[in-house]
Amino acid sequence: MNLILLGPPGAGKGTQAKRLEGSFGLVQISTGDMLRAEVKAGSPIGLEARAIMERGDLVPDAIITAMLANRVGQADAANGFILDGFPRTVPQAEALDRMLAEKGIRLDHVIELKVDDAALVGRISGRYTCVQCGAGYHDTFKTPKTIGVCDNCGGAEFSRRADDKAETVAARLAAYHRQTSPLLPFYGAQGKLSAVDGMAAMDIVFAALSSIVKP
Ligand code: ADP
Ligand code: ADP
Ligand code: ZN
Repeated sequence: MNLILLGPPGAGKGTQAKRLEGSFGLVQISTGDMLRAEVKAGSPIGLEARAIMERGDLVPDAIITAMLANRVGQADAANGFILDGFPRTVPQAEALDRMLAEKGIRLDHVIELKVDDAALVGRISGRYTCVQCGAGYHDTFKTPKTIGVCDNCGGAEFSRRADDKAETVAARLAAYHRQTSPLLPFYGAQGKLSAVDGMAAMDIVFAALSSIVKP
């Protein structure tokens, strides 16, 4: 089962991808996480991407598609993957189609998480993650059982993304509407698109996604 989770920044793609990963044995492939790892490592890709990400713009297609081509070919992706944050432009989607066709891999579903722009700002500005295990939290919508201690690994160190601030969110939403939303008709025409109400509580969203993913 190979999926794309499509939706604006803060829609809940990462949250749901992690849950699908746990329940369906799929692997989450997040180009945002991959880019943040490159930035942290100070690699050539990271050096080029850093300022672009901090502005809230999209990293050039050529960098992203090269990075992704390596990733989908890795052994752990053979049982199925969830693409989170990729593709984000029509050229990326076309490159993905070519890449999958070459490797004989089928794309099963593209699922749109629909969330209002007004709700996204609140989701993004309250988001933080565990440094040790990457578990995601929110100041109001998903607090750890004991404040300051990760439910998943017991870690006590958390971080917030450099681009999760109000000034950048507007640019990221604009990029989504202008460059990414054309993917909805693109995948609609392929008959692969379905939509889930991402405004609902996390468990309800997960149940809706599961009913699409389950054969
Ligand atoms: P994305 O990967 O699409 O950018 P995330 O999964 O990181 O989004 O979610 C953004 C923030 O919103 C996180 O802090 C997460 O805990 C929270 N969140 C995710 N889904 C929901 C939901 N259904 N209701 C409320 N908050 C949510
Ligand atoms: P979110 O889902 O909250 O928007 P991501 O972690 O997916 O965040 O992406 C963070 C940033 O990384 C984006 O704003 C963009 O600069 C860059 N990025 C991630 N994936 C892509 C992609 N497929 N194409 C271009 N830029 C990307
Ligand atoms: Zn943790």
